[in-house]
Amino acid sequence: MTDSLVRAPETDRTHATPEQYAERYARSLSDNDAFWLEEARRLDWVTAPSKAGNWSYDPVDIRWYDDGVLNLCHNALDRHLDARGEKVALHFEPDDPESEARTLTYRELHREVVRIANALKAIGVKKGDRVTIYMPMIPEGTAAMLACARIGAIHSVVFGGFSPEALAGRIADCESRFVITADGGLRGGKPVPLKDNVDAALERPGAGVEAVLVVRHTGCEVNWTEGRDFWLADKANDADCPCEEMKAEDPLFILYTSGSTGKPKGVLHTTGGYGVWAALTFHYVFDVRPEDIFWCTADIGWITGHSYVAYGPLLNGASQVIFEGVPNYPDAGRFWDVVDKYGVSIFYTAPTAIRALMREGDGPVTSRDRSSLRLLGTVGEPINPEAWRWYHEVVGSGRCPIVDTWWQTETGGIMITTLPGAHDMKPGAAGKALFGVEPVLVDGEGKLLEGAAEGNLCMARSWPGQARTVYGDHQRFVDTYFSTFPGRYFSGDGCRRDEDGYHWITGRVDDVINVSGHRMGTAEVESALVLHPTVAEAAVVGYPHDIKGQGIYCFVTLVAGEEPDDALERELKAQVRSEIGPIATPDLIHFTPALPKTRSGKIMRRILRKIAENDYDSLGDTSTLADPGVVDALIAGRRNR
Ligand code: ATP
Ligand code: MG
Repeated sequence: MTDSLVRAPETDRTHATPEQYAERYARSLSDNDAFWLEEARRLDWVTAPSKAGNWSYDPVDIRWYDDGVLNLCHNALDRHLDARGEKVALHFEPDDPESEARTLTYRELHREVVRIANALKAIGVKKGDRVTIYMPMIPEGTAAMLACARIGAIHSVVFGGFSPEALAGRIADCESRFVITADGGLRGGKPVPLKDNVDAALERPGAGVEAVLVVRHTGCEVNWTEGRDFWLADKANDADCPCEEMKAEDPLFILYTSGSTGKPKGVLHTTGGYGVWAALTFHYVFDVRPEDIFWCTADIGWITGHSYVAYGPLLNGASQVIFEGVPNYPDAGRFWDVVDKYGVSIFYTAPTAIRALMREGDGPVTSRDRSSLRLLGTVGEPINPEAWRWYHEVVGSGRCPIVDTWWQTETGGIMITTLPGAHDMKPGAAGKALFGVEPVLVDGEGKLLEGAAEGNLCMARSWPGQARTVYGDHQRFVDTYFSTFPGRYFSGDGCRRDEDGYHWITGRVDDVINVSGHRMGTAEVESALVLHPTVAEAAVVGYPHDIKGQGIYCFVTLVAGEEPDDALERELKAQVRSEIGPIATPDLIHFTPALPKTRSGKIMRRILRKIAENDYDSLGDTSTLADPGVVDALIAGRRNR
């Protein structure tokens, strides 16, 4: 069932036909340097590069467009001013639908960025300095990133939902001496004390921050440290602020990964390659046309917010929506209210949001118009076919293609996806490789697997948007990504490639369960559970089992209003058995009101694994957990078994 094709509507075949894709893909590999030099022309360069890739995976040294010189803020803003200065760059939708929305044209956003760039200079920021951005989802957040790019400072955006402790760790790790924040934020009607959190973070030893730039947003009361804290409005000015000339390999930003699998890594991206990659992937994957209104719901604190809020859309001169709030406030129809309000045509979100909204039923969706939508996207986790179908049929009314985009903080942009128009879709499969991307599957010993196969997902060659290092710890970069399978980039994910060359992400390789010698991805078992009408979400892990080696432990949450009982437990076991086979029959089903998630909404399986193993003392780094209370409830539930 999950392999069934969903045809791409003919009307969307304007961008890349199947033939164009095949031809361009083949050339992107066979004539790699020429292809990437051509693609570099998407950007304006002060000095155009004479060569594209110059990289090695052994030793690890990755460079692209090495002799090129450019500025990405110029590319995102200045160069558009003549042709589309009055075009909308950002529609800002506040948390409270009754509050005033704001729209900024390219010219207005440019002005805002220049003002912030001047403020940064005024507090002493110089080229190469790290600047921590800890902001709500407001236009100034994106503008602060571009202001850093403008003057050659390296931004490190920390999600505004992180605790002072997590913020302090990220400030210390990259030795950032400057912070940009807001007085406060609002999410789902609740105030977020951003400035207070910064104050608390800076009280910790080791945070050598010299200056904090504060944006007035909610107007809440804040404490003030004279000589360190400055209102943005007092430092900003409209003086001329030329774009700094940056070498292609000058760092653009540091971004800490979600922390799903361990201590977050400060992934470093550079200017030229990342810029080309963000521009190209946005253009092809979202099939963008001049009249489109794009909306990516990710926070700028995640890589998705970097590549598909800040850089991709603006490098392409597109119009987009940015949203301060959450999907279920004031009610579960908010996303679709916003879609209708701005006429959103391309909508990009995460499986966690789709599953949460699906749990509330169709009503909040079908009561809204949504006729402006023409393309839907998802990223962040494998999407269960069940959730995919709901997204396709209910949200998209069966009209809109879905791009299921697989990528990582480390890849800088989308790597594997179907292209609207060029490829038919398979619910639950990411699809095919984008141009210049060469995914390969290898077995545990590193042997290359051909044709339809399942194994470890690696990349056989570099691409411009690839991360260059882990900030301050190149050895960790080498060890994490290049040592398991020498000569290849190892993603850490498992993947099945089918007869049509589509990629099905099976979950993190660390999460693979070995039941009586059979290796099993967790995603498949989870999808079988979610098929049941009462199940909202499922997370599956292995745990020690006397006979089988590992048993299958399932954490399950139910849709609103449903109660667990023994009959349901039996039904769920039977369902997995009939969907996948007897070998996949769950050993334990643990009903729980909630699952532990990272603040980007991903299920933290490593914690669930510890709970399943009855090992509560070594839960590891929990600083990226959205709600630590969930863990106590799970432990109590486990003890009762
Ligand atoms: P950490 O690296 O700190 O453990 P993380 O891997 O969750 O955190 P990200 O870089 O935000 O941090 O996420 C990338 C991962 O998300 C991928 O490796 C993959 O496991 C998962 N992922 C992203 N998109 C998809 C998708 N479309 N289908 C399946 N999995 C996806
Ligand atoms: Mg990762």
